[in-house]
Amino acid sequence: MPTMSLPIPKIEGSACFDAESCFFLSVAQKVSFIDENLLKVLNSFRREICMDIPLRKDDGTLITVKAYRVQHNNARGPYKGGFRIHQQVDLDEVRMLANLMTWKTAVVNVPFGGAKGGLSIDPHTLTKTELERLVRAYTYNLGDNVGPHTDIPAPDVNTGAQTMAWFYDEYAKSHSTDAYGVVTGKPIALGGSEGREEATGRGCMYVLREACKDLKFDLSQGKTLIEGFGNVGYHAARLIVNELKGKIVGVSCSKGGIYNPKGIDVEAAHKYYTEHKTFKGFPNVEHMTCEEFLLADCDVLVPSALEGSITPQVANKTNAQIIIEGANGPVTAQANEILMDKRRVVAPGILANAGGVVVSYFEWVQNLQQFYWSHEEVNNKLEKIIVSAYENVRDLSRKNKISLRQAAYTIGLERVAKAILLRGTGF
Ligand code: GLU
Repeated sequence: MPTMSLPIPKIEGSACFDAESCFFLSVAQKVSFIDENLLKVLNSFRREICMDIPLRKDDGTLITVKAYRVQHNNARGPYKGGFRIHQQVDLDEVRMLANLMTWKTAVVNVPFGGAKGGLSIDPHTLTKTELERLVRAYTYNLGDNVGPHTDIPAPDVNTGAQTMAWFYDEYAKSHSTDAYGVVTGKPIALGGSEGREEATGRGCMYVLREACKDLKFDLSQGKTLIEGFGNVGYHAARLIVNELKGKIVGVSCSKGGIYNPKGIDVEAAHKYYTEHKTFKGFPNVEHMTCEEFLLADCDVLVPSALEGSITPQVANKTNAQIIIEGANGPVTAQANEILMDKRRVVAPGILANAGGVVVSYFEWVQNLQQFYWSHEEVNNKLEKIIVSAYENVRDLSRKNKISLRQAAYTIGLERVAKAILLRGTGF
């Protein structure tokens, strides 16, 4: 390995942002052809958009909502990444997530860069019409900073197919109705792709399957715990049961979790959660707080909620041997070190949750060529990409005796850095 050591630039920002940045910076220092100046480019953001969006509530009051779109790097293709609506959203969080998208698209080798967006408000405090006005205002204000060949948003926390339909429609008003490619994760009836909704969970399932093969771990004999029951957690849980014969012993939401060592009926839990928006009252299970839930007995843990939930305390106490990052950045830097010391296997989000952006790429390709694929075709293509990305990461981690996370970052960083060097500075 090269021995060059570069000073790590000081980055202002929140804890989660510092943690992820330090990680990618520490890996970048070990890549022989990345010098100090290239490191500065990799560590900078090409564009940061911060807006205050006025929103007229249904009752006539006027509020303002902080809104962001951060474009990290586009050396390998148009910026790509979701946008979320959550009260925790701030510039640092969006930066961290944009940065992750750059490495994620590179690890799975889809021709995109990295970006992320967000609106800082609890969407549950808004009516559907207020939400629609807000999403439309966000889209309108982003103007030509987004577009099918510029920057392509997608669903993320608290956003989904309906949000993308509003986004597309607002964009199409001032551009072309043939502009489906401006956003991915759209409804099937409006240029969406078969298989996009379940894609992130499906990608997690493939990574878990491959990791179990390597570890010779029989998932049907193990206990799997899923943190978060949104789009990622639900589909991951469902597919782990249906396609891997795994046993889900617990699922959780932001209000708490449910646990049963004999197994949870995922579809019944989903039906209940969809109706009640909580697991409170769900029968024949142990009810737990979010803190207790993450410490519950399991062999596999799939954190699929927000960043930073796997704290050093959780890392010290969990007996999960395999951790699959369904969310972006759920394991803090310190917790990661603890898990590595304990020789646990951690599949990093830039690989494990990349299924979503892979099928976003398929959706974009289908939109551009106006020729649509079957669900089976999408799943087969997704499986090929995820399995081959996993194998590349695993092989490098074995060869260099490094963690899966270090290997994934090395592959992503090398691809982005090479693209920058080949292009020069004019991109
Ligand atoms: N929000 C998802 C992610 O974090 C999907 C991004 C996309 O499809 O562009 O990977």
